[in-house]
Amino acid sequence: MERSPTLAASDVSPSVQQEVARLAGMPEVRAAFGRFRFEEPQFAQWQVEVSRLSAPPFGESNRAQWLADRFRELGLTDVHIDEVGNVFGLRPGYGRTVVSLSAHIDTVFPATTPLNIRQQGTRLYGPGVSDNAAGIVAMLAVASVLGSSRIPHASPFVFIGNVGEEGEGDLRGMRHVFQTPRWRDSIAHSVIIDGAGSDTVVSEALGSRRFEIIARGPGGHSWSDFGAPNPIIVLARAIQALSETPVPASPKTTFNIGVIRGGTSVNSIPESASMRVDLRSTSMAEIDRLERALRIALDHAVDAENLPAAPRGTRKHQIVQCEVVEIGNRPAGELAPASRLLKVIRAVDAQLGNTAQVQRASTDANIPLSLGREAIAIGGGGTGGGAHTLQEWFDCQGRDLGLKRILLTMLALSGVAE
Ligand SMILES: [Zn+2]
Repeated sequence: MERSPTLAASDVSPSVQQEVARLAGMPEVRAAFGRFRFEEPQFAQWQVEVSRLSAPPFGESNRAQWLADRFRELGLTDVHIDEVGNVFGLRPGYGRTVVSLSAHIDTVFPATTPLNIRQQGTRLYGPGVSDNAAGIVAMLAVASVLGSSRIPHASPFVFIGNVGEEGEGDLRGMRHVFQTPRWRDSIAHSVIIDGAGSDTVVSEALGSRRFEIIARGPGGHSWSDFGAPNPIIVLARAIQALSETPVPASPKTTFNIGVIRGGTSVNSIPESASMRVDLRSTSMAEIDRLERALRIALDHAVDAENLPAAPRGTRKHQIVQCEVVEIGNRPAGELAPASRLLKVIRAVDAQLGNTAQVQRASTDANIPLSLGREAIAIGGGGTGGGAHTLQEWFDCQGRDLGLKRILLTMLALSGVAE
């Protein structure tokens, strides 16, 4: 993630600040703040339970069922799971527009990963405890105190546990939410909870494009067919060329070859090899440029490998070819500095004495932001680390700060009568 300067207190809008201060002083809101501390054992319990349910991309249904049950227990209405697996629950209100609070329910871990989740004091350990069990729990915590504290908010809230944020999921859950007329036409503000922490605001959507590249050739025996083109060598040549492609520091632009596969045995010329490439930038133009560099590198690598083999046999059996399949495309976007959502989160942070930095990242917020809607991604409180590793951890201490931040933001966006 790329960090920009800390939000300046001078950017806070006085009227929004006053409104947030009024909300924070309401007896119902203060009672809700108290419940965030009081109910922590329940939050940790939920976090352990949900982390023990595997949720690889395209395999989130157990978690979706679990979350729908929790939504019902907490008194949300119209609880349902849509055709791609997103879970919805509502708190009714008034007016045409809706404020959404969402957390992705998928993890990066394959279904076979042992989910050895353990709790030691205030700390939880295990894959997914922070990203995004912390987000799911924050969403449940807010739904829980809204149910018990009777705060008279105006706009309805929709709570969404969405699928498909990580990796191959390619934001499919959030994409589907914003393709569904009911939500596309009503969600005015999206608050997205991703991971732990209270010290960041993702308001700039990092774009990315991902490819699976498959090189195929005739294959053969390493001795008797020597000279036949080798798909692994094609990929190796292309990787070499791509790795030498200059990228600007600003706008920050990166590439990664994250997976490489191919071949069957040491004495066989492989019939195929594949790799997965991730291109990222805050500028769509730089992503386009890198994609062109990648395609040129592949063309040259194929030409170089096919050339010596051509005279030896029929071309049909002697050439290697590359197929480029796009497996991910996340649009870039940015929250306007004058947007209501940015004013609100700044005022909330000032009210809570919290310091946060604006970040640019690839999250579910990419979808609403790329459509010109107001969206931010923030953490679910507490602290965490080791995301996307088996050593992932989460510390519940100070979780209530993150929860207060989310609740105040939701209430300010919704409007609460005096
Ligand atoms: Zn996440």
